[in-house]
Amino acid sequence: VEVMNEIALLRESIASIKHRSETIGFVPTMGALHDGHLSLVDYSSSQCDKTVVSIFVNPTQFSPNEDLAKYPRTLQQDIEKLRHHSVDVVFVPDATEIYPPGFSTMVSPPTVARCLEGEHRSEHFQGVTTVVLKLFNLVQPDIAYFGQKDYQQTIVVLQMAVDLDVNVDVRMCPIIREPSGLAMSSRNRYLDGDQRQRADALYKTLALADNLITDGQRDGRVVMAEMNQSLIDLGVDSIDYAVVADPNSLTLMDTITLPAVLLIAAHVGTTRLIDNRIVS
Ligand code: AMP
Repeated sequence: VEVMNEIALLRESIASIKHRSETIGFVPTMGALHDGHLSLVDYSSSQCDKTVVSIFVNPTQFSPNEDLAKYPRTLQQDIEKLRHHSVDVVFVPDATEIYPPGFSTMVSPPTVARCLEGEHRSEHFQGVTTVVLKLFNLVQPDIAYFGQKDYQQTIVVLQMAVDLDVNVDVRMCPIIREPSGLAMSSRNRYLDGDQRQRADALYKTLALADNLITDGQRDGRVVMAEMNQSLIDLGVDSIDYAVVADPNSLTLMDTITLPAVLLIAAHVGTTRLIDNRIVS
């Protein structure tokens, strides 16, 4: 595996892959890698000739009050993990490599970025669309792999790719979970023992809401009320949202039709957790 920090070196690597007419799979990450990230890497290496992983804690997608400074950075362990998977290039740029002095163009995200995460994290998706488009331009992947874990993010990137004629096949891959059901996340390492147990509230609440709908409940307001109550009963400290939405537009469903997506964002201690589930 080749590890590189500079755009110039990345461009050389990409050019030589393209010269051999090999396909490129791309997995963008912020590092602190876990089995969720590695599952995306495995999808890529099984479907593409070469796999490029980026590790970049993107400052423009964090709000001033968020955890940019304390976001976990575990580069050596990340590279060690990637060595056990079929990865060809790891791109680890500094912030100034991606945002040099004078940088000022931002990608305005699609409408679907306004609700849910967009309401609670202003500027977040603008930072995401900007860095993802830049990385797509640099890596020129045939296929890019994103996790269902960040459901709205993946929908936003899909829509951006359509709207801006980006010639990349964006694929959404399943959520990888801990044995308890907790969705794997780099932020889970912030949780202590008691908090980790309370964090299971998200997964359990998704299962409960799925059961309600599968048993025939079609009133979205009833399901959403039950989700909020369940999260509180199971010990989360606060809830940003707990909703039933259309899987494409993410508009809330007063009357539930299938498929639907259940989405939750909640805080346990100072850690903000998200999870979701598709009901079909
Ligand atoms: P992040 O490093 O958190 O920006 O995540 C990088 C990519 O990994 C994103 O596309 C995430 O959706 C995906 N990802 C994160 N956690 C998981 C998980 N538990 N299962 C599957 N994909 C994940």
